[in-house]
Amino acid sequence: MIRSAIANQKGGVGKTTTAINLATALAASGFRVLLIDFDPQGNASTGLGVARNARERSVYQVLGGDVSLADAAIATSVPRLDIVAATQDLSAAEVELADMPDRAHRLDAAMTAAPARWEICLIDCPPSLGLLTLNALVAARGLLVPLQCEFFALEGMSQLLNTVELVRKRFNPSLSIVGVALTMYDRRNRLSEQVAADVRAVVGDLVFRTVIPRNVRLSEAPSHGLPALVYDHRCPGSEAYIALASELIARLPAPAVAA
Ligand code: ATP
Ligand code: MG
Repeated sequence: MIRSAIANQKGGVGKTTTAINLATALAASGFRVLLIDFDPQGNASTGLGVARNARERSVYQVLGGDVSLADAAIATSVPRLDIVAATQDLSAAEVELADMPDRAHRLDAAMTAAPARWEICLIDCPPSLGLLTLNALVAARGLLVPLQCEFFALEGMSQLLNTVELVRKRFNPSLSIVGVALTMYDRRNRLSEQVAADVRAVVGDLVFRTVIPRNVRLSEAPSHGLPALVYDHRCPGSEAYIALASELIARLPAPAVAA
């Protein structure tokens, strides 16, 4: 199973929107996909239509070792896409994990024990570099970083890259950055263009060619409990996520592509 974390400690940069719509696009291209909602806010779960009272089993129990990943997975309305939901008690996990000797490896262990039911797993991280994100980076092989096209886009990037280096050295040598996705790009705004150019100058080829436009359909879809790709598959936002999924597939190791 290919495992990718979607992380950026900055809030509101499009992590969850990317997680939901990329997962949907990958499922639509035939992959069996698992999305792990790893944020106590539970936005990915809500955005995929999993009501709070339907989250009897959640990633919190998976971290605690009480429930397996397979038993926590919930089928979504998207064929081939399952989700492990998050509940607010996941915020307590940051504190509870601190006392555990294997605190950085809890998610990795749960994923390693999971059956080969899924080909790709995406992990939607919370906006912090705490123990939850650490668990995601230890469990993942790839990291996808959404960057919002605004003035402070690159602020925090060096801290994130330092964290990746540290995780690589201490916990997970196989972690690498699969790509940086520019989000909320506004064609009418010169700043967006400038930020995109700056990011490409600093991060180079790691930046995906596909840029996610600012598109109101992307922000409306979650209130209907649907990925934008289902809510309006022809809106510019959906088309961009389909293109981003193709780029991502091209960057994945060969076995996943052949599967
Ligand atoms: P958090 O750090 O709180 O988890 P996040 O990084 O997951 O946030 P999102 O929740 O995906 O970010 O997006 C933040 C807000 O911006 C949401 O209201 C979302 O609907 C909206 N949004 C995200 N991407 C776009 C876009 N391309 N166009 C318009 N609105 C967007
Ligand atoms: Mg989010």
